[in-house]
Amino acid sequence: MTADLAGRAPGAAAPQPAAPPPGPGAGRYAPSPSGDLHLGNLRTAILAWALARRSGRAFHLRVEDLDRVREGSEARQLEDLQALGIDWDGPVVHQSARGDAYDAAIGQLQAAGLVYECCCTRREIQEAPSAPHAPPGAYPGTCRDLSPAQLERGREKMRRLGRQPALRLRSEVTEWSVQDLWAGETTAAVDDFVLRRGDGTAAYNLAVVVDDADVGVDQVVRADDLLSSAPRQAYLALLLGLPQPGYAHVPLAVNSAGARLAKRDGAVTLRDRLARGESAGDVVERIGRSLGLRGCRSAADVLDRWEPASSPRSPWVVAPES
Ligand code: GLU
Repeated sequence: MTADLAGRAPGAAAPQPAAPPPGPGAGRYAPSPSGDLHLGNLRTAILAWALARRSGRAFHLRVEDLDRVREGSEARQLEDLQALGIDWDGPVVHQSARGDAYDAAIGQLQAAGLVYECCCTRREIQEAPSAPHAPPGAYPGTCRDLSPAQLERGREKMRRLGRQPALRLRSEVTEWSVQDLWAGETTAAVDDFVLRRGDGTAAYNLAVVVDDADVGVDQVVRADDLLSSAPRQAYLALLLGLPQPGYAHVPLAVNSAGARLAKRDGAVTLRDRLARGESAGDVVERIGRSLGLRGCRSAADVLDRWEPASSPRSPWVVAPES
């Protein structure tokens, strides 16, 4: 029987998420450098910064460059954030330079018997019958208990495909809960999610948990499309013996049809707005209005005037020419 890294035997009552550690802590913003930040991204960045600074926390910037990177995008994003008045502490962290930290975390989980190789292709996962009581989309556990001979056949198949087996977490729970500043207690499914992908790259959920903990992030503020990932990440942090951060997921910006804001929606980036004669201050003012605030011209004004408790809980509908 394997105990988890918190010393809990399988089947034992799930421990409650720990309170954030004492001390100043830190917040962060973690953009993916795949294009210019749009108004929704900029609003989330301002709120992450304001929540951190109003509580005396440090603020870190991390570039999530494990996936598609658009040339020049990082520099433009950092410039845009600075133009709004957002500053950060310490060097900008790049996930692409953090492979050793991810390997160490995976090694720690492996030593506790909490990792297995998965030789399923995406198609095989889609076509596999789902496990009884498993939530839709959950990994069905096909490779969780392979015999040595089955595993060897799986590895051979992956070699032929030019990939390595992915590494998955041997999860001992089916769901987990976190506290979100706005959404309250949020429970979501936790399946045997991927820790390292078949191309050898650390998976998002692992990287985020390791990166946040390494710089003392205890306040995770980001868009609410990631709310359902938070329980997985909090559970993983627990298995790694890391503190549970507090979460605050900001409602997404959407277009008038309710779809996630995108380039085709018109002047949605800071640069689009500058090109049509607005200033960075005008853009902050627009973002401030979406929060019910008047006359905010920089991130510092939002910090002064914003009351998180009365922040809108529904998506921000950005009309094309507003
Ligand atoms: N890189 C993600 C994004 O740009 C954010 C991830 C996170 O904040 O955990 O949507």
